[in-house]
Amino acid sequence: MRYQCRECSYRGERAGQAGSCPACGSFNMAREGSGDEDQAPPKRTWQLRLLIGLWGLLAVLILHKLLS
Ligand SMILES: [Zn+2]
Repeated sequence: MRYQCRECSYRGERAGQAGSCPACGSFNMAREGSGDEDQAPPKRTWQLRLLIGLWGLLAVLILHKLLS
């Protein structure tokens, strides 16, 4: 697990005491590779819903065509 300081440019394998930065002593540290970063892509959600909705509409239209 790697740590990166958000106050200075420290980046290393370990953090200091109680998770503080060993270079500047700040507690504003980010852990890399743990999914802790706020990099979650929220834009993909509505695109996926739109895709599912369009496929559902297509299925409904096909069924309506077949049953009529
Ligand atoms: Zn630092």
